[in-house]
Amino acid sequence: MLLEAAGRPVRPAELAEPEPTHDQILLRVGACGVCRTDLHIVDGELAQPELPLVLGHQIVGEVVAGGERFAAGVRVGVPWLGWTCGECRFCRAGDENLCDSPRFTGYDLDGGYAELAVADERYCFPVPDAYSDEQAAPLLCAGLIGYRSLRLAGDAERIGLYGFGASAHIVCQVAVAQGRHAYAGTRAGDEETQAFARSLGAAWAGDALAGPPDELDAVIVFAPAGELVPAALRHVRKGGSVICAGIHMSDIPSFPYERLWGERAIRSVANLTRADGEEFLELAPSVPVRTEVETFPLEEANEALDRLRRGALRGAAVLVP
Ligand SMILES: [Zn+2]
Ligand SMILES: [Zn+2]
Repeated sequence: MLLEAAGRPVRPAELAEPEPTHDQILLRVGACGVCRTDLHIVDGELAQPELPLVLGHQIVGEVVAGGERFAAGVRVGVPWLGWTCGECRFCRAGDENLCDSPRFTGYDLDGGYAELAVADERYCFPVPDAYSDEQAAPLLCAGLIGYRSLRLAGDAERIGLYGFGASAHIVCQVAVAQGRHAYAGTRAGDEETQAFARSLGAAWAGDALAGPPDELDAVIVFAPAGELVPAALRHVRKGGSVICAGIHMSDIPSFPYERLWGERAIRSVANLTRADGEEFLELAPSVPVRTEVETFPLEEANEALDRLRRGALRGAAVLVP
């Protein structure tokens, strides 16, 4: 499924079989998760996709032509971080998620809305056996970038998860397993999602803008809605933090300095490191994280994206070729 221009639907296309180059492996795609980032690319909210483009950066596939690390027949996962330079100050400091010249899967590199894909094997992960292809796919971005956000929330005991979609439904399970109290913020009146959050162990679920009755230690904002940031600041205690997990957000409305006062902090989470992925994929089956997925045939990618845009999904959307 090919994206030829922002603002247009993706369309079915016959492309030449991708040829793996140095360090790359060829994969037969078993499943590919749909991420909100894909929607931002389609909607033209991220500036420079490599068009025409095959979207998709939560790929689970079987190796067809292997490399040095993964042999043919092995199942691997391909995440958003597709390549880094290894030489810039960030790469050298172990912060490859901040690399100055990165390449991202399904953005700079063709991704997994396809039957075949190539990926640099140094950035791929083994997929835990406990998961089917469909259930594993959302772990690769929703799961592991969500996990990085949770880690950056430090030892917060009462943690808000605002925007309860693919990522929050995974992070909620990890947070509860770690003995934290999860507070799920949704759109006002979205009782179905609130009930879903409670079924995953959330201590509270309700309107994110109004906030919970308890004061929180941290809030992770997953929804791309800037107005949630000052709202979340109002809900955290002194010294608490608001962590923005998405790659794009509408403008944050101005707010009185008093809301930030008391050593409250706002920060973003950018991309992932390979260490995040390895750590999370080892942890997930031990929780165990169960992913709620809705599968769509590959050719219905536009329907999956549209349902995500409307907030009409429970858990994560996954495309199956
Ligand atoms: Zn993503
Ligand atoms: Zn770099």
